[in-house]
Amino acid sequence: MAEFNQNLWAPWRMEYIHSMADEAREGGCFLCDYWAAPHRDGEHHVVWRSPCTFVVMNRFPYTNGHLMVAFGAHRGDPTELTESEFGEMARGVRDAVSLLRRAVKPEGFNIGYNIGRCAGAGLPDHLHAHIVPRWSGDTNFMAVLGDVRVVPDALDALYQELVAHARALGFRT
Ligand SMILES: [Zn+2]
Repeated sequence: MAEFNQNLWAPWRMEYIHSMADEAREGGCFLCDYWAAPHRDGEHHVVWRSPCTFVVMNRFPYTNGHLMVAFGAHRGDPTELTESEFGEMARGVRDAVSLLRRAVKPEGFNIGYNIGRCAGAGLPDHLHAHIVPRWSGDTNFMAVLGDVRVVPDALDALYQELVAHARALGFRT
């Protein structure tokens, strides 16, 4: 049971901790900043965009390949989205699974939304889903490294791979 709880909840707790640090440092909404700057997608590790959503690598990944599917506009309540807007979010989650299966060959996934700060959402007003690839026996490699920053080169290298796979799958042109 303890192991089950750890597997289920740890990724979301990590988001809360790290995004609180982000907010303190930047004072804004980084998802809005990313959405507004498509010319900086490479720097921000945005893997692809759809008309209303984008898929981005988590800067503080729980495991290698941790992605987020974010709504473009600053809206936090999924019940406020139209059918087609929420459909785009769901499609993004589905396609992120396809991409990660191809790119990093996980054995499982944790997928979820944190709605509200008490549920662990670091950016409670900007809807985003987490897609965390899992392997049997994996550990949170951030904790293993003992620092909140993943080596930027490793993120960049994986980003280039994800972009290539996203192109091959037709998610991005
Ligand atoms: Zn926002």
